Amino acid sequence: MSRPGRVYLVGAGPGDPKLITVKGLECLQQAEVVIYDRLANPALLEHAPAEAERIYCGKLPDNHTMRQETINALLAEKALEGKTVVRLKGGDPCVFGRVGEEAEHLAQHGIPFEIVPGVTAGIAVPAYAGIPVTHREYGSSFAVVTGHLREGRAETTNMDVAEDTVSDKWQALAKGIDTVAFYMGVGNLPFIRKQLIAHGRAPETPVAVIAWGTMPEQTTVTGTLADIEERLAAGPHISNPAIILVGDVVNMREKINWFERMERGSWASTR
Ligand code: SAH
Repeated sequence: MSRPGRVYLVGAGPGDPKLITVKGLECLQQAEVVIYDRLANPALLEHAPAEAERIYCGKLPDNHTMRQETINALLAEKALEGKTVVRLKGGDPCVFGRVGEEAEHLAQHGIPFEIVPGVTAGIAVPAYAGIPVTHREYGSSFAVVTGHLREGRAETTNMDVAEDTVSDKWQALAKGIDTVAFYMGVGNLPFIRKQLIAHGRAPETPVAVIAWGTMPEQTTVTGTLADIEERLAAGPHISNPAIILVGDVVNMREKINWFERMERGSWASTR
């Protein structure tokens, strides 16, 4: 049997196609197969050779996605044909990117792989909204959290132990961590803000919801834990993908909101 090809598990960055790493770009330039997600900017595919096979595995209009097992099998299959495979994922592949499952599958099959980190949305998207996730005066700790905390967890079961664990988690997020970035959380925002307040976070804590960050259509709505839902209802339409950022650092935006104040036309021409 011929030697298997190598699989590169590459972070595409948060949206702006220039925010991929040099290493990620070089992987794309050598790719024979690119398997990409919905959140990886399709503009990046232009860097792959024209003859490279391009396989989309994100959400389809009928809301179906390729099953994780199918993606794992596909990565292995293409590599076993001796091909150089790039698995391109939005942001960083290790942050809510299931890279662990894919790498484990490849390791089990003896297929060589490399992980190429990317710029994650929870840090880059706030940066483009004028919010540094840490700041010497306002935030010395930062957490990255899935906004799906409710689903399949203690809130929907009767397990006391699990409930304690979940409550501990909310308490830590409410009181122990200065800045919290919730990914995939927009649909669950009412629950998230109520949990944070219930576990001791001040209702006046600033919140920013940033959609399509680092892209020309980036949109931000700010408020507090108390009023962010009303602000969203009254403000511009926010659609996924969006980051919910909670913490005093959000106030920095008033001073350093550089990207949204830029003339987007001039920004576009530098790309
Ligand atoms: N691996 C990715 C995260 C995948 S989970 C990363 O490291 O960034 C998908 C979630 O990421 C979305 O629901 C949203 O919360 C966030 N996200 C990704 N791209 C984004 C963008 N351009 N603007 C705002 N949020 C984004």
